[in-house]
Amino acid sequence: MKSDIQIAQNSHALDITEISKKVGLTESDLELYGHDKAKINWTAINRNKKNGHLGKLILVTSISPTPAGEGKSTITIGLGDAINNQLHKKTMITLREPSMGPVFGLKGGATGGGMAQIIPMEDINLHFTGDMHALTSAIDTLAALVDNYIYQDNSLNIDPEKILIKRGLDVNDRALRKVTVGQGSKFNGIEHTASFAITVANELMAILCLANDIDDLKARIGDILVAYTTDDKPVYVKDLGFHGAIAALLSNALKPNLVQTIEHTPALVHGGPFANIAHGANSVMATNLALHLSDYTLTEAGFGSDLGGQKFMDFVSKHLDKKPDASVVVATVRALKYQAEGSTDNLGQENLEALRKGFKNLERHMNNMRSYNVPVIVLINRFDTDTQVELDLLKQLIQEQGIQAEVVNYHDVGSKGGIEAAQAVVDLANSGKADLKTTYNDNDDVKTKIKKVAQKIYHASQVEYSEKAEKEISHLKQLGKEKLPVIIAKTQYSFTDNKKLLGAPEDFTLHVKGISLKNGARFIVVTTGHVLDMPGLPKHPAALDIDVDNNGKISGLF
Ligand code: ADP
Repeated sequence: MKSDIQIAQNSHALDITEISKKVGLTESDLELYGHDKAKINWTAINRNKKNGHLGKLILVTSISPTPAGEGKSTITIGLGDAINNQLHKKTMITLREPSMGPVFGLKGGATGGGMAQIIPMEDINLHFTGDMHALTSAIDTLAALVDNYIYQDNSLNIDPEKILIKRGLDVNDRALRKVTVGQGSKFNGIEHTASFAITVANELMAILCLANDIDDLKARIGDILVAYTTDDKPVYVKDLGFHGAIAALLSNALKPNLVQTIEHTPALVHGGPFANIAHGANSVMATNLALHLSDYTLTEAGFGSDLGGQKFMDFVSKHLDKKPDASVVVATVRALKYQAEGSTDNLGQENLEALRKGFKNLERHMNNMRSYNVPVIVLINRFDTDTQVELDLLKQLIQEQGIQAEVVNYHDVGSKGGIEAAQAVVDLANSGKADLKTTYNDNDDVKTKIKKVAQKIYHASQVEYSEKAEKEISHLKQLGKEKLPVIIAKTQYSFTDNKKLLGAPEDFTLHVKGISLKNGARFIVVTTGHVLDMPGLPKHPAALDIDVDNNGKISGLF
């Protein structure tokens, strides 16, 4: 079997103007980046916001990720292709832009796999239309402006050791987690400790993905809490007057990017917050535009129902013009066996006992998604090593819980690998049964919100707060911000805050280590267990397998 990049490079991309026509856009609505990528311009965005049309919204999430692979992006893309090309319905796929850090670190991209991919995959995984670079520049310009403010006169008396914003790079570089800036003579600025987070973890990425238009973008940037003064008064970006310049740096990046699948389904790939440390969904601009342009929008929430799924339902959906009409949980036989065994050693061998045991993980994810009162279907992503007996057993276990299940093979054969499944998803989206019920109420205070997510979604029995977290909560109260939505940063590998506890653990304690206010994104980040916002590189980084030839052809991406 060819690798993902070989399949993508052998596919034929249509001119992006042809793709745009499928959803009623013309060439004058596009800003072209070569022949196969484009940004949608403001005229088209603003015109379609008011076109009076809203299609169905289908959310794709999955079981807890494992090294065995789940294939969430692959299924989102394959399902989109099946609805578009086999059922002939006007469809758009909206996905996150990959972060380059993980591309060079651990193997695994964000452009799908096999015959279900978005193209041009090398561009999308590397520099694409420059949105990540724009974000990195905006993040570091803001940090430099704040340092310069302190250096020049600091009339507000910002304490350099109480700067809250981080610098950013779209690189996995553990050496930058904690640094000292301004070393040397006083002409080099005021010396203070600082830290870097990967670009996708920065509040500006969250803001880019939540803003509705440039005014909203600017207002949110103005509201970022930058630092405290020496007497602990909050300082916001707008107090320093930098919001206009930072919004200008990001204004082009706010426009969604149009690309296509191998089967020529239109896809908007825009914004890319991680789902373990941020809210984990592509931009609100892209999803809303797709809802206005197509009859079926497929979007993906990162990781499982406990991370991207929960955050999408409880938080992201409030920013959208339409709530989800159906949700899809992706599962694989291999990953469920891994949930039981904790090892990748014998996943290719039939093991019904392990499958039954590992099913508990899927059951929890199905029930979580069902708890939102949006109809759920499970798509089983078939791997070559799965036996028919295993696939039949898994389908039966799912159906016994009153949930529909279909086996799909989009990875190997493209849209023909699951036509019945596509019809089932479309029927579910049209059933009219969705009536979103969130896990917590807007008016709950921060601890109540955390408790509700911990108990209802993770199945924790209690939540324990560190002394630092307690102090930060009192501080939130002083600022009058304790009722903002919570974004819980947690490992993606377990329902608990300990990544080693697989399956479906019950009655554990969730440990809250820290609370930070993301006032521009208008949420509170709640850190649990050991989560990093600047990843490191592994012993064998994917970079060792990546190369380029003298014709500019890239190899070894995935
Ligand atoms: P996720 O979105 O869950 O991280 P992806 O869709 O990005 O997963 O897929 C991860 C990798 O697994 C890709 O390289 C893809 O080609 C591979 N993959 C996905 N589904 C299958 C399958 N059914 N058979 C073989 N490989 C698959």
